[in-house]
Amino acid sequence: MSSIETIHVDGVWLAAASGETREVLDPADATTLQLVSEGGAEDADAAVAAARRAFDEGDWPRTAVAERSALLRRVADLLQRDREEIALIESRDTGKTLEEGRVDVDDVTNAFRYFADVVMNESGGRVVDAGSPDVHSVVVHEPVGVCALITPWNYPLLQASWKIAPALAAGNTFVIKPSEVTPLSTVHLVKLLVEAGLPAGVANIVTGAGLPVGQRLAEHPDVDLFSFTGGLVSGTKAGAAAVSGAKKIALELGGKNPNVVFADACATEEGFDTAVDQALNAAFIHSGQVCSAGARLIIEESVRDRFVSELARRAEKIKLGRGTEDGVECGPLVSQQQLDKVEAYVASALAEGAQLRCGGARPKPSDVRPATGYFYAPTVLDGCHREMKVIREETFGPILTVETFTTEDEAVALANDTEYGLAGAVFSADTARARRVAARLRHGTVWINDYHPYLPQAEWGGFGKSGIGRELGPTGLDEYRESKHIYENLRPEPVRWFAG
Ligand code: NAD
Repeated sequence: MSSIETIHVDGVWLAAASGETREVLDPADATTLQLVSEGGAEDADAAVAAARRAFDEGDWPRTAVAERSALLRRVADLLQRDREEIALIESRDTGKTLEEGRVDVDDVTNAFRYFADVVMNESGGRVVDAGSPDVHSVVVHEPVGVCALITPWNYPLLQASWKIAPALAAGNTFVIKPSEVTPLSTVHLVKLLVEAGLPAGVANIVTGAGLPVGQRLAEHPDVDLFSFTGGLVSGTKAGAAAVSGAKKIALELGGKNPNVVFADACATEEGFDTAVDQALNAAFIHSGQVCSAGARLIIEESVRDRFVSELARRAEKIKLGRGTEDGVECGPLVSQQQLDKVEAYVASALAEGAQLRCGGARPKPSDVRPATGYFYAPTVLDGCHREMKVIREETFGPILTVETFTTEDEAVALANDTEYGLAGAVFSADTARARRVAARLRHGTVWINDYHPYLPQAEWGGFGKSGIGRELGPTGLDEYRESKHIYENLRPEPVRWFAG
């Protein structure tokens, strides 16, 4: 494969039909990292046709579950073999640190292994009691068909794997379109799927833009399932196109996630240090470019001053730089566009009365290397309230806002006051209170005294406008399966419903 043949259709690596290419940039210095094929609608059509043929005529959907499971395990082993190489690709493409890249590869390996297991455990049919010894009734699972998978730029390998692993486990074929901003690790993953022995046409990738490639996949009549991870605006637009063709859809959209800290969590020095450290991690890991980032600190008024001062002190010390360099704790934002967006959110918050506790600007060129990267200083904005744009919208950057409460009810009301509902956390030393609050949060994942961990065996997804459907867990497999009820009459005889 040469550097521009990043489209994979029916087992062959290709350049775009139009011959167009795109420069993928290194966000740490804004130079070109690699050229990729800039696919168009024609490439999307060819990929869907290949996936359709492989589904309708190929062996994969009819392959024994044990064989599919074994293939997923081989992919997991190959991911571990290439761990350093993939972590480096992910770090250079997204800007995240190399260590975060390694964590992503390990998480993705676990996801492949999890779906290899769960499909084995859940492959047998479910016998249903039909109330008669003369009836044998069973519900079985079958693959949905051709899946179109669309992924964002922040966790390219991870988001691709959360879709690809269950799709393959269930026996589907697919076309994936990674984000045009960070397509490189997904191209590598497809190479590993081929190496693991997946038949031609089962795994197809078209690198290119949302418009036209993603939109074409959403509208395509030969696609049976459309699974999208990305922003609310593009997701609902693409989802509407997919639904109008009566496809199955899954949408994993944004989040505006509350991190609720009660004063009792800070009653001891150890508790205080833990809550501050976790709040820092919640908001600033991967420069806040995380759908579940704890971007809204909702803190009990009595501890606010001490907590926010310590948080700002530590945020100022976060070491920015190229993600592959030793000692760097946060990389750049992914693009100039993302940097502009973050600057605009901070400006609007300050105009609306927020108080800047730290950050609020690009670092001085003398403070960060390389100086040409899309860096933005971790920013803490105090004195925020619900009317502010920065509280209501997902900034997807290193911005932590601070709101306060005095009662438990107030804390819950603030935490639920969002159109999203992806994730949130509660920190409290009072177990009963922590569980009570967790039960009242309208978010798809709730952490108690922790932030960010997730498990492949537990469902991931959002309430409200954070999406439709779930990834991971048994439900994450079910999204890619049709249920079929087979009702067998063992003693057929006339029904005599009609007299004539
Ligand atoms: P985005 O919506 O701009 O793009 C996501 C993908 O959709 C890209 O591949 C893009 O090319 C494609 N796309 C854009 N317009 C399209 C259209 N009309 N039809 C089809 N495809 C289209 O999102 P992004 O900026 O790449 O990623 C950031 C967003 O992703 C954030 O909102 C974040 O919260 C969300 N996200 C959610 C989760 C989750 O699990 N819920 C995980 C990661 C990221």
